[in-house]
Amino acid sequence: MTVRSILEGKGHQVVSVEPGTTLSAAVKILSERHIGSVLVMNGTRIDGILSERDVVRALDERGAGALDEPVSAAMTRKVVSCRLSDTLAYLMEVMTSERFRHLPVVEGDRLVGLVSIGDVVKLRVQEYEAEQEALRDYIKTA
Ligand code: AMP
Repeated sequence: MTVRSILEGKGHQVVSVEPGTTLSAAVKILSERHIGSVLVMNGTRIDGILSERDVVRALDERGAGALDEPVSAAMTRKVVSCRLSDTLAYLMEVMTSERFRHLPVVEGDRLVGLVSIGDVVKLRVQEYEAEQEALRDYIKTA
């Protein structure tokens, strides 16, 4: 299973904001879209990623005033991405070792999607179920 097939199932849509968007506006987007992160885009360039954890950290460090600051003050700037040819196993490895739950998908210089840990778990469960089904069929016919 590759990132390409994951995106074929879930689509290529990525929710993004501009670096100058206020944290409170970004929080509203996270809440209304039921998502855990937004990419921070400057035109077609990825400037950073803002996850709910970054919001919590900003509130803890700077209090409610942080909500009026731009997302650029709270986002992670060094964004790790993956490619369409990467495997599900590789995504699990990166998400576990780097301790984050979102990976933008970049091909060349172009953002083409985003994979979350929820997508990964869902597909891994489907893979397990298919493997079990195949084993059951094999045992029945052996
Ligand atoms: P998450 O677990 O994805 O909600 O994010 C945990 C922390 O990792 C936050 O500080 C995020 O900004 C950061 N983060 C999430 N995804 C990425 C990514 N793909 N590359 C770099 N940092 C990330």
